[in-house]
Amino acid sequence: MVGIVMTRRGFIDASGAASAASLAAIAVPALAVLEASSSARVMGQPMPDGVKLPSTPGRRKRADSVGIAIVGLGGYALNQMMPRFAETERTHIAAIVSGSPDKLQRVGDAYGIPPDARYSYEAYPKIASDKRIDAVYIVLPTGLHAEWAIRAFAAGKHVLCEKPMALSSADCERMIAASRRADRKLMIAYRSHFEPYNLEAMQLMKQKAIGDIRLVRTEQSSRMGPTSPSKNWRVNRALAGGGPLEDYGIYGLQSALYLTGEMPESISATTFRPTGDARFAEIFAHVSSQWRFPSGAVAQLVTSYDSAGVNFAQVRGTAGALMMDPATSYSGQKMRLEGRDARELAPCDPTVQFARQLDHFADAVRDNVVIRTPGEMGLRDLRLIEAVYASAKAGRTVSLASDGSVRR
Ligand code: NDP
Repeated sequence: MVGIVMTRRGFIDASGAASAASLAAIAVPALAVLEASSSARVMGQPMPDGVKLPSTPGRRKRADSVGIAIVGLGGYALNQMMPRFAETERTHIAAIVSGSPDKLQRVGDAYGIPPDARYSYEAYPKIASDKRIDAVYIVLPTGLHAEWAIRAFAAGKHVLCEKPMALSSADCERMIAASRRADRKLMIAYRSHFEPYNLEAMQLMKQKAIGDIRLVRTEQSSRMGPTSPSKNWRVNRALAGGGPLEDYGIYGLQSALYLTGEMPESISATTFRPTGDARFAEIFAHVSSQWRFPSGAVAQLVTSYDSAGVNFAQVRGTAGALMMDPATSYSGQKMRLEGRDARELAPCDPTVQFARQLDHFADAVRDNVVIRTPGEMGLRDLRLIEAVYASAKAGRTVSLASDGSVRR
């Protein structure tokens, strides 16, 4: 799993060696006390490491294939998602949007994107009149999701938006309102909802394969190499919010919700940020929270950008346990049941998650299929993230309303 995380995030210290930064500890209780060094604005970046461009462009398979403009040609778009379009039934890459003229040319040539379907950010409004584009896929740093999604709705396009949906519930609400005004679809790219291991885990929990759920533990951690907010958007408050929870811990947050099938009624959280470490000048190093559900189940969610890589989810019930490690990777998932029905589980290749997610979006656009991961789900999760930070700031447990917002 560590390798997978490292591939996806160039900044992670591959050796796991200690950074030179001081770890003199102070507890910084609230996101609100962290200052952003800059505002969120688009800025083209060089070609990421390790990108293998296709030797032959993909072809659309169906006449009603949904034409998608990729917005932001970064590591995840180029290494993971764009190659997967060839595996989909009903989507194709119709256009690319980037701040890098070099990538527009190289990626455009490799994927067979016509020159007049390669857009700079300045030219983005012109997608409105480009009939080849049905939808956009926002793969920008998170602090830019809201603005570029709302502009896509203004251009009359459907939107598939990467996780997390945005950096505040207020921005999520603006995105949902824009989608409704434009009468266009909004889907959040929560790929685990299309991944066979996680789908099977959801089913098993519904069927009470481990009895009644009592405890959930999730951890998503990785160790980043030396960096700073000006060099890396993931440690820049304006683009990444509080850091690891929004980026990586959100998988644990999601797991806790879809495995229990409940919303928490209270959250108690703590955050940590070392002093004198440029990586954590604007974001947290660790975020830990404890959730209580109406059934009495308790969840512990831990996420970190400064500890050795792990990605697991464990659920313990009255008759056994479900162990997922790694739980939500791109590939290589492992899952087993312990207790009453003990066995290893290997549903099918986890890598189908990418194409299935894209085809689900296409089915929503073309056939009005109900979206499994709608904007409302992204909004719910941002409310819970805000509740985590509110609890840490207040230094006490916060009670939640049924929509995940903090009860005043
Ligand atoms: P990268 O840093 O690799 O790429 C981001 C791209 O966004 C850049 O290459 C650049 O593209 C564009 N960009 C525009 N403005 C900026 C800016 N100010 N700073 C940096 N980049 C900018 O990020 P990722 O691809 O890893 O992440 C992008 C999104 O995808 C995030 O929302 C992240 O949470 C999500 N993600 C989801 C994953 C999943 O498993 N679902 C996994 C990894 C990421 P260009 O040069 O073309 O303009």
